Amino acid sequence: MSEKIEYQSVMNKLFGRICKDENKGQIADYIPELSKVDPNLFGVCLRTIDGRVYGVGDWNEKFSIQSISKVLALSMAYKILGDEMWCRVGVEPSGTPFNSLLQLEADNGIPRNPFINAGAMVVCDMLISNTENPVEAFLSFARTVCANPNLNISEKIAESEKLVGFRNKALCNFIKSLGNIENDPEEVLNFYFKMCSIEMTCKELTATFMYLVDDNYIGEDGQRVMTMSQAKRINAIMLTCGFYDESGEFSFKVGLPGKSGVGGGIVALLPDKYCIAAWSPRLNEKGNSSRGMKFLEAFTTETQMSIF
Ligand code: GLU
Repeated sequence: MSEKIEYQSVMNKLFGRICKDENKGQIADYIPELSKVDPNLFGVCLRTIDGRVYGVGDWNEKFSIQSISKVLALSMAYKILGDEMWCRVGVEPSGTPFNSLLQLEADNGIPRNPFINAGAMVVCDMLISNTENPVEAFLSFARTVCANPNLNISEKIAESEKLVGFRNKALCNFIKSLGNIENDPEEVLNFYFKMCSIEMTCKELTATFMYLVDDNYIGEDGQRVMTMSQAKRINAIMLTCGFYDESGEFSFKVGLPGKSGVGGGIVALLPDKYCIAAWSPRLNEKGNSSRGMKFLEAFTTETQMSIF
């Protein structure tokens, strides 16, 4: 069935339809630098397991991938530490906002999952303890999986978030006080803000995440990025926890594992078939890209290609 789908024309049709609707939602302006993005940009890229690439709209425009970077950090830590890492971070949906402090005390500083901010900070802490230069190691990992030496971190965005990141600072210090951060919280936060500030286009995002689509994926360095079982587990966490407090809704409407970020990006994938990335900066009330979600829902409905 999938071979018969004219992906480009399906994408053009859905894109045109969504562009006719009002562009609803709010841009994430709590990070001042992010509020400067043109809210009307909108792009989508699809990459199939056999290497075909389709794009529509602003799919070659760089943007701040924000929380999507947490999948890369998690992959790195999982590769280094293996299952040992799960004693410091859980794998359950949190049911609370991404930056919530609420559950941490009751859970003794063990964040519910690696995609809420608290969990991603613990993952950053693991990477600091296990790499010589975590920022360089992270960037080099992203460049290798994407097979693209031109990926970079926006220092401007990282600095902008640092200036206003009071809640993230509280979170990190709180976890430290509960004994689940090994390093200096300031160092963890600096790394966390930089990690979130890596920039990619939709096209680059789909290239980056093929290691979660293709069981036989071999990176640019001739190595597997991770084992099949590890990739399966990361996909499972993306399905259950990838969309803030709207993960159930995303699964219900779209039916793919994925991850979103407050920059308006969404990456989602169908194992063994394709990776798709959508970007539009206006977010719905749960913090996910409004147009991105609409597009992906329409795409899996029209192509009948989801995991269910
Ligand atoms: N750097 C952002 C923050 O911590 C990431 C949020 C996101 O994309 O979910 O607020």
